[in-house]
Amino acid sequence: MHKKNIIIIGGGLGGMSAAISLATLPNVSITLIEKNNHLGGKLNQTKKQGFTFDLGPSIFTMPHLFEPLFKMHNKNMEDYFKLVPVRPHWRNFFPDGKVLNLEASIDLMQETNDFLNETDIKELKSFYDYTETLYNFSKATLFEHQSEKKLDTLKYYKPWKIIKDSDMFKTMDQGTRKHLSNPYLIDTMNFFIKYVGASPFEAPAVMNLLSYIQWKFDLWYVEGGMFQLSKGLEKLIKELDITVIKNAEVKSLSTTHNAIHTLRLKNGKTLHSDIVISNMEAIPFYEKIAHIPETQLKSLKDKYPASCSGFALHLGLNKSYPQLAHHNIFHGENQAEHFNAIFNDKELPSDPTIYLVAPMKTDPSQGPKDHEIIKILPHIPNLDRDKPFTQNEYHSFKKILLDKLERMGLKDIRKHIVTEEIWTPETIMNTYSSTHGSIYGTLAHKEKNMGFKFPKRSTFFNNLYFVGGSTNPGGGMPMVVLSGQQALAQIKRKYFN
Ligand SMILES: Cc1cc2nc3c(=O)[nH]c(=O)nc-3n(C[C@H](O)[C@H](O)[C@H](O)COP(=O)(O)OP(=O)(O)OC[C@H]3O[C@@H](n4cnc5c(N)ncnc54)[C@H](O)[C@@H]3O)c2cc1C
Repeated sequence: MHKKNIIIIGGGLGGMSAAISLATLPNVSITLIEKNNHLGGKLNQTKKQGFTFDLGPSIFTMPHLFEPLFKMHNKNMEDYFKLVPVRPHWRNFFPDGKVLNLEASIDLMQETNDFLNETDIKELKSFYDYTETLYNFSKATLFEHQSEKKLDTLKYYKPWKIIKDSDMFKTMDQGTRKHLSNPYLIDTMNFFIKYVGASPFEAPAVMNLLSYIQWKFDLWYVEGGMFQLSKGLEKLIKELDITVIKNAEVKSLSTTHNAIHTLRLKNGKTLHSDIVISNMEAIPFYEKIAHIPETQLKSLKDKYPASCSGFALHLGLNKSYPQLAHHNIFHGENQAEHFNAIFNDKELPSDPTIYLVAPMKTDPSQGPKDHEIIKILPHIPNLDRDKPFTQNEYHSFKKILLDKLERMGLKDIRKHIVTEEIWTPETIMNTYSSTHGSIYGTLAHKEKNMGFKFPKRSTFFNNLYFVGGSTNPGGGMPMVVLSGQQALAQIKRKYFN
């Protein structure tokens, strides 16, 4: 029997997870093709003037979802990368000067936020009970039973239980407000939606599970920088029988009987495939590689719109700011207006909520002594809008960000910039071929998809599977890594039973 050729398009976390998982199968030849010169995809890094900048993810939770990748090959994750807990989880700065630490326990929340009263603490406990139910529901349906659409959940749950345990008729913001009345806590918990690049006013209430996940599984930093996570997975890939081809872009395909049998690379080389895994997002794959009919593409785009994008300003400073924690959120006056600007008006927000990472608070090795790295990452609309943003608009937006941070206590940032690196939605789109520069893949939307993404098994080609942020349970590192493991389960069922 000839070995089955499995071709994986894209070496992001989804593609790497799929490659490692599929390497447990007998009689397969696995080839992973990556268009860039590094594995890790959005988990990316650059070095400038003594600073090491993580260009992608900075928030890492649920490390136990990475562990199976090592265990399935009898390896220990600790031999590949080291994890360090981050404290506090986030520091929240509000326009009126209030500072709220989001901590890893209720006791610590009380201890470091003396303005929280008994009612706040009681409500916080009830909020975490509520989010635990949402998490348990998603764990069963999305993680364990691997549901790919709303109907799948009916196989395991009675309708009334789905409605109740997923808080089905509410948005995330409505779910938050049902349990919390303190406005600082509401804005903080709503902002967890950052982890999947959606809006709490349009995402289903079940997305409140994000705060519980961080609470339960803690928040971690990878020693030496987040990019070490990708280095660790690459080391494992090298130890397995997997062929990696970097700097190679898949450009087109040929089919027989609705199965992809050949992939053609930009350099003209062709590869024969029995099974194809696309870590390239589903929309660009269908649009640019598969060229599916326009009407079908449009209906997929309507159901599975892209998550938001981001404007990432990486600064190396010759000064450190003691008031910052590792993760910081600088909130705005009106959270609803901020999200409305991004998701409905599709404009750069005039008072953006700013996520700011200062990794040297945990790991001083990332830059010169007494210096500071700050990565400023407000979410902004993706490029699915009438016209592109102009350089002038980006320039003015950068000014808004720095003015806001200076106003909120980071005095004279501009004077202390040693080096900078800016990533716009265009950079993100062109580097990773993401849909409209989306940073998390498919958007979780209550009306359009109830938080479900593309099913992993393609409905167009019978030997094609998707992994990564555009598929279930995707969005964010842990879910993307889980999608690769889930693809193994589906492929095993179809081809290796
Ligand atoms: C600035 C930023 C901040 C983020 N912050 C966080 C965070 O704090 N926490 C978190 O969990 N997540 C975060 N994310 C999201 C996280 O990075 C993603 O969810 C995750 O890394 C996506 O992995 P993926 O495998 O789905 O996609 P990708 O990482 O995009 O991988 C897809 C790969 O496919 C390759 N590819 C595409 N087309 C082709 C082709 N035709 N041929 C060959 N190769 C191809 C691309 O080059 C890429 O390497 C952030 C993302 C960004 C950009």
